Amino acid sequence: MGGEDSLRVVVRARPMNAREAREGARRCVEFYESSQQVVINGAATFAFDKVFSDTSDQATVYENSAAPLLDRIFDGFNGTVLAYGQTGSGKTYTMGTEDKDDTDEIQRGVIPRLVDGIFSRISAALNPDSFKVSVSMYEIYGDAVYDLLRSDKVKLEVRGDDQGCTIVNLTTAPVKDLLGALKQLTLGCHYRTKAETAMNATSSRSHAVFTILLEKFPDEANDASFSSKLQLVDLAGSERLKKTQAEGDRMKEGININSGLLAVGNVISALVQKQKHIPYRSSVLTRVLQDSLGGNAFTVMVACISPADTNSVESLNTLRYADRAK
Ligand code: ADP
Ligand code: MG
Repeated sequence: MGGEDSLRVVVRARPMNAREAREGARRCVEFYESSQQVVINGAATFAFDKVFSDTSDQATVYENSAAPLLDRIFDGFNGTVLAYGQTGSGKTYTMGTEDKDDTDEIQRGVIPRLVDGIFSRISAALNPDSFKVSVSMYEIYGDAVYDLLRSDKVKLEVRGDDQGCTIVNLTTAPVKDLLGALKQLTLGCHYRTKAETAMNATSSRSHAVFTILLEKFPDEANDASFSSKLQLVDLAGSERLKKTQAEGDRMKEGININSGLLAVGNVISALVQKQKHIPYRSSVLTRVLQDSLGGNAFTVMVACISPADTNSVESLNTLRYADRAK
């Protein structure tokens, strides 16, 4: 993608969970930090910009994946973080889009850490008042986009052309500090879970996007102004639908969601190969991410995997998907 530093692909394994342990699962991944390689099933080897083993903590993952985005957005560029992987692989944990409001600082995911970083920089700036931060949160379910900062499930229209898209009437909440931003994040995560319960659906089939808009206005000391955006995406589960599930509406949903994941993969691989035509318009997800993927934007993909051999088929698929993005 337009140079080495505009795309960063990392892999993270979560710890083995109780269920896997109970089922007698064995660890099937080995991490080699010196070469940033991961070996799966003792056979296939993949190298990434960074690999994080199952003992890596939130701070380490953040510092070595998303943190470099801070420099970029304060230079006026956009960025994206994509968490990819099968359901249960740690996407939501990594991003920090869990539906709970008492997450301690050590357990905080990528989104709260980025917001914290943004406000630290603003308060250290010569004129903090020349900055404005606002946040939005929305969900893409099939072809539909829903505002996650509203309690009613309003379907939003995506309007735009090849220059980029806007989501019409999406709530944009101005926030003054970390706590204000976390309040909106918690609200969005909560509405997401609530709507899922009502629809008898699960987050495994939708993409959740938290957007941070940073604006800098001219001031006496500095007449520079810019506006930049971060789109932080907890992607739908990448697993193949089970045969019994793949019927009727469910199958349609499955196909739609897979088409979003497929489209992101195709867009990134077209960017990596510097193709002339980038297929942004092939899904709602890539349309809304267009201005934050490619061009001058910086993209981070965190591929999440389980360490257990019982999940090795999906983990291998995830590693292959991430490998295509390099
Ligand atoms: P996904 O969003 O991919 O479906 P989750 O993020 O919900 O997966 O993770 C599944 C479960 O595993 C959750 O209970 C989560 O808290 C836990 N988990 C995921 N990653 C880690 C990790 N690195 N350390 C500790 N617990 C984790
Ligand atoms: Mg999740």
